[in-house]
Amino acid sequence: MITAREHVQSLLNFIDVSPSPWHAVGSVEALLSDYQFIKLDEKTTWQLQVGGRYYVVRDDSSIIIFVLGQKPLAETGFKIIGAHTDSPGLRIKPKTTNENEGWLRLTVDVYGGPILATFTDRDLSLAGRICFKNGQDKVATKLVHFQDVLLRLPNLAIHMNRTVNDEGLKLHKNNELPLLLTRVVDGQLPQDYFNGLLAHQAGIDSADILSWDLNVYDTQKGAFWGGNQEFYADSQLDNLASCHAAITALLDEAVLQADNTLVCGFFDHEEVGSESNRGADGSFLPDVLERIAIAMLADKSDYLRALANSFLISADMAHAYQPNFPLAYDADHKIVVNNGPVIKINPSQRYSSESISTGLFATWCEQAEVPYQKYSHRCDLPCGTTIGPITSAKLGIRSVDVGNPMWAMHSIRESAGVFDHAYMIAVMRKFFTGL
Ligand code: ZN
Repeated sequence: MITAREHVQSLLNFIDVSPSPWHAVGSVEALLSDYQFIKLDEKTTWQLQVGGRYYVVRDDSSIIIFVLGQKPLAETGFKIIGAHTDSPGLRIKPKTTNENEGWLRLTVDVYGGPILATFTDRDLSLAGRICFKNGQDKVATKLVHFQDVLLRLPNLAIHMNRTVNDEGLKLHKNNELPLLLTRVVDGQLPQDYFNGLLAHQAGIDSADILSWDLNVYDTQKGAFWGGNQEFYADSQLDNLASCHAAITALLDEAVLQADNTLVCGFFDHEEVGSESNRGADGSFLPDVLERIAIAMLADKSDYLRALANSFLISADMAHAYQPNFPLAYDADHKIVVNNGPVIKINPSQRYSSESISTGLFATWCEQAEVPYQKYSHRCDLPCGTTIGPITSAKLGIRSVDVGNPMWAMHSIRESAGVFDHAYMIAVMRKFFTGL
């Protein structure tokens, strides 16, 4: 029996090897390798079999994993858990700053909605994907993950920013976010230095670099904290914690041999609206489900029956009550860390849950002997959203939005409860193996 702490340690290890969405998909693939999964290529024809275990990767940062159960798909539908691989933060722009004082700073774009102040004074580094010329007329990609601390965004001393504690830390996105990397020696161009650094890390020729997708990540490892070590902190808990819970729930022989058709979809670009070829608002999930249907079902009406019988758990993190800020929460809908998974409810369809899907998820929690909570955002504050409403709308599938409570969502150092992670895994297993 794996303890709650061991599940979280496994999550922290997963985050360590997943410093970018491209790495997160690679980390999931590595977990699948022990369970006889077959990788499918969207450019080829698929031979699928009942009982088979498969996965598909689109553009390196989204992945759909599925297991074809023995029960008739048209009647049981797909049991789907969806989550996202990306986290808000900083992405490296195509060109470094170019200035004559010798500073080499990396210019950045803000990706999604990070709490920018939390990126200051951290031990930052880079991870992502490099595209390069691979022989004549060919391009190839390589993942890079700098382990050393490379970058920093030092705060201004309080002596030059006297109002910082009263007004908060405000950073001009274009002018004050470039990250300090080094000082180049006389005559060396900053861009040449940076390309050389990337080329060395990737083991390629600097002149062959064409472009990149590079994420800024925090090198500090995850940690347990609290009087009873009942909390943990790390980067990217939103939403690698949900990806990890779902894949852990799936990779259990009893679950894999259940008769249901099971699907895990982990998508990039949720933090910027999901609209891309591999985002949840793109064609990836509909395409994969349709190809399963073409291989396994008699006709389109059977596919539509399968969709009508399907269910989606949209798993994303939820806003735990922070007692220093009581007014930020609806006093009657506070959710508490370590009190179990949260069902998120918003009638304006920022969350996809409705009374039936909420009731079903609550029932699975009860069957798994897991506590659960219900969250509703203050109705005078704009509510966030997830991949749930988009996916549910695209496919016509009943869906519930759930997630574990966490503090400091979109900080570079987020925090959550040890017991909730194990609770979420248990209820996801119940969902996969249930009727
Ligand atoms: Zn999220």
